[in-house]
Amino acid sequence: MKIAVVGSGIGGLASAILLQRKGHQVTVYEKNSCPGGKMGQINVDGYRFDTGPSLFTLPELVDELFELCSVQETERLPYVRLSNNCRYFYPDGTEFNFYQDREALYSEIERVFPHDAAAVRKRLLHAEEVYNLSAPVFLFSAFHKLSNYLTEPYRHMVFKLHKLDFFRTMHGANAKDFTDPRLIQLFDRYATYNGSSPFRAPATLNMIAHLENNKGAFFPVKGMYSIANSLYDLALKQGVRFEFNTRVEEIIRNGAAVSGIRTASGITSVDAVVSDVDVRSVANHLLKHPLKRIINKIERSSSALIFYWGINRSFPRLDVHNILFSSDYREEFKHLFKEKSLSADPTVYLFISSKIVPDDAPAGCENWFVMVNAPSDCGQAWDKLIAEARENIVRKIDKMLGVDIGSCIVTERIASPLTIARDTFSANGALYGTSSNSLLAAFLRHPNTLPGIKNLYFVGGSVHPGGGIPLCIASAKIVSNEIPDAL
Ligand code: FAD
Repeated sequence: MKIAVVGSGIGGLASAILLQRKGHQVTVYEKNSCPGGKMGQINVDGYRFDTGPSLFTLPELVDELFELCSVQETERLPYVRLSNNCRYFYPDGTEFNFYQDREALYSEIERVFPHDAAAVRKRLLHAEEVYNLSAPVFLFSAFHKLSNYLTEPYRHMVFKLHKLDFFRTMHGANAKDFTDPRLIQLFDRYATYNGSSPFRAPATLNMIAHLENNKGAFFPVKGMYSIANSLYDLALKQGVRFEFNTRVEEIIRNGAAVSGIRTASGITSVDAVVSDVDVRSVANHLLKHPLKRIINKIERSSSALIFYWGINRSFPRLDVHNILFSSDYREEFKHLFKEKSLSADPTVYLFISSKIVPDDAPAGCENWFVMVNAPSDCGQAWDKLIAEARENIVRKIDKMLGVDIGSCIVTERIASPLTIARDTFSANGALYGTSSNSLLAAFLRHPNTLPGIKNLYFVGGSVHPGGGIPLCIASAKIVSNEIPDAL
């Protein structure tokens, strides 16, 4: 079949590789001049910044793509396991390291959270159990396909549904399981990994902690963008064609089947379309379909405000991933999802890839990716919000780390919900499509197909099974399994 993949985000790249391997003739149409979508990079004055994702989990899903294409291990994406998943800083001066090594982790927990040591062990085991139970159903299969409900993983899960903890919120479960508010805040934060609020998302999502803390946090030796680059190279080697700077303006239908795509150069006939575009943008701009009416009503996930700072010195006290917590988490999420604004005391995420990729900054310097969660765009006065947030962030970093960070910033770039929407066509700049702020929302994302339209498939972070690098690859695997091999 002749297949058009629209968008070269992680989901699009993985789909293109898998489908070309199946013998199809795949062309990827990308409006930007390079692949990667939200996984981007910028080079400024000797500093390199990954602009989007920074945490790499389940790298075996990337390995699998190379393996499928018979690429030798030495030729695959090189990455390392981090020894410290994240360094946490609290307003009361506490520092806590979530080490990967179990012995180191448990002695750190005894040091900082002695009353909750047993609860953390129990939680990590529970997160693993929930993941093992639900992943084959919710993450790695076409959840919306009724015939799957007769398969073994689904039957197994049905008998253990009570374990999935649907009926409490993440925060409700964390507040019950841990006594120390700082630890509750730490585990609540995993809701932000899919752009949701721990005060509304179901406790099932506490399994996210399993990926980072049991399976492990990893980092590509050449930075996050090398994931996109290596998949792009792999796709080219398989024979996938790429048309950059080519925006798809319409997905054309002939009755109940997709028949082509329209770009500025005209209509190209195809046998199938795999869309890696945010499904809300598809509904609003690419496809004439009533889908739009439903999809525009669903709450968007959070977005982000990011400052990319070239820093003229190094900070041994910081690690690759660092969190500077706020003093009132509930207030922060009220701002994000209710007031659609930014809290004056936001939790700040500092990601410094030059700690592990020295070439990412000049000698003795560091590349800081400074991010706060932001509401998705709904017409806020962003210039004002960004200026205020910058002041608040600088003040917070100075206070919590005892520095004068303003005097160390030698170069700056900024990403906001507006630029994320502009650059990736992610509606409202949402990072993960829809939020998971309701009981079943996480599992009721838009399916990978659209009932009533043949040969149109959806991949990427806005559809099933969800956002983030591993789940985008999972969506590509699901779609590739739906499309038969070429004859
Ligand atoms: P996208 O990245 O959304 O790309 C879609 C592509 O389609 C874009 O290149 C766009 O230009 C193109 N396109 C859109 N419309 C058209 C059109 N009409 N015609 C042609 N091309 C079009 N995930 C993690 O796993 N770990 C993290 O730490 C993490 N942190 C993140 C931090 C930030 C700031 C952001 C933005 C995201 C983060 N994520 C993280 C999420 C992760 O980056 C995304 O889930 C994933 O990269 C999305 O991939 P995708 O396949 O949905 O495609």
